[in-house]
Amino acid sequence: MTVDADVVVVGAGIVGMATARAVLDELPGLDVVVLDKESGPAQHQTGRNSGVVHSGCYYRPGSEKAELVREGRAALVDLVREHGLPLAESGKVVVATRTSELGPLAEIERRARAGGVETHRLSGTGLRAVEPHARGIAALHVPSAAAVDYAAVTRALVEEVLARGGVLVPRAEVLRVAVAPAGLGLATTAGAVRTRWLVNCAGLQSDRVARRCGAEPGVRIVPFRGDYLSLRPAAAELCRTMIYPVPDPRWPFLGVHLTRGVDGLVHAGPNAVLALGREAYAGGLDVQDTVELARDPGLRRLAARYWTTGAAELLRSRSVALVARELRRMVPEVRAHDLVPAGSGIRAQALRPDGTLVDDFEFAESPRAVHVVNAPSPAATAALAIGRTVARRLGALVHR
Ligand SMILES: Cc1cc2nc3c(=O)[nH]c(=O)nc-3n(C[C@H](O)[C@H](O)[C@H](O)COP(=O)(O)OP(=O)(O)OC[C@H]3O[C@@H](n4cnc5c(N)ncnc54)[C@H](O)[C@@H]3O)c2cc1C
Repeated sequence: MTVDADVVVVGAGIVGMATARAVLDELPGLDVVVLDKESGPAQHQTGRNSGVVHSGCYYRPGSEKAELVREGRAALVDLVREHGLPLAESGKVVVATRTSELGPLAEIERRARAGGVETHRLSGTGLRAVEPHARGIAALHVPSAAAVDYAAVTRALVEEVLARGGVLVPRAEVLRVAVAPAGLGLATTAGAVRTRWLVNCAGLQSDRVARRCGAEPGVRIVPFRGDYLSLRPAAAELCRTMIYPVPDPRWPFLGVHLTRGVDGLVHAGPNAVLALGREAYAGGLDVQDTVELARDPGLRRLAARYWTTGAAELLRSRSVALVARELRRMVPEVRAHDLVPAGSGIRAQALRPDGTLVDDFEFAESPRAVHVVNAPSPAATAALAIGRTVARRLGALVHR
């Protein structure tokens, strides 16, 4: 098979599909082909996450994350309503259980106000009015947090892309890229593809796809596995909405929390442990991924700085009792036997050679290509806005 396209989008996760739709809207007349190595869309991060529509209260005002989450959230809720998809507009609470957490809680409140996100400060009694089984010395109620099914949202985006004349080719892994002045020649598992421009939305593989295109993204994707547990139905009433601890700003994705999904299931977790394979959901080992991680200077620096945090997370990943103990700080009635394993996801987190985790969304360009270099949580919430941003960057390349 030889396919010719004006624009190839690599990756049919929510970011890739949102980008394909935005390119079709913003650059009319261009043929768009989405390639994915799997048999269908949303098989990696997009189909293995917490399903939370984040409100944007944690992010530094003015950061790309804060802006794109605000814009993306509104567009996401509109899309979900247009397609009649489930949306649980439950809100969430962020619970302080120690006096040392009151300062960071006030900082979240300040950031939320700066970003125009509605929050309400609750006392311990006020918290119980929202979450009768939760305990804390203070809390923030964030009414705009919600839950959706991101795989269903991505399938809706596929429908929209196809309706606009776009094409999705499954089982088409991009293996090699030849860059020429007039375009790119791709060798894929589904055959050869020629394209004038390329957009890389390959998630866990985005740094590799970037390098195949001759770009140097300046980061390595480090996979952090998140294991979920869920509350047995008999204990599910312990969480009505979503209950979060006050996050540690250095580790925004740490902190065991409870979230009620659109299916009514209450999930606990996810934790965050270094995965020895970018797609090793069951906890196995991929030799190439492990060798690359072991040689990475950035990871060595990160590990030296934070080995105690990493070790604690590893321990928690092995012990349901430890997760239950952590949850009992906020919800004292949770018992280990209330928790059952409920799958896992792997986060694509960009790491710089100096050992810093890239916090903000990050994009890069190379001849005839735009790369989504870092799109960690809450990129599913922000995906429609990320898609528009990438389409505009591509537009600038096309019209140069
Ligand atoms: C455990 C966990 C919990 C999360 N919770 C939330 C949450 O509650 N709310 C939120 O907003 N965000 C959350 N996130 C983040 C969110 O899921 C991701 O930021 C988002 O899904 C990223 O989408 P993506 O399209 O960039 O990546 P992906 O969904 O990973 O898609 C990338 C696609 O590229 C394809 N691909 C890769 N390499 C190639 C190749 N060489 N050729 C062809 N195709 C290729 C893959 O098959 C895949 O389909 C969570 C993430 C995880 C892992």
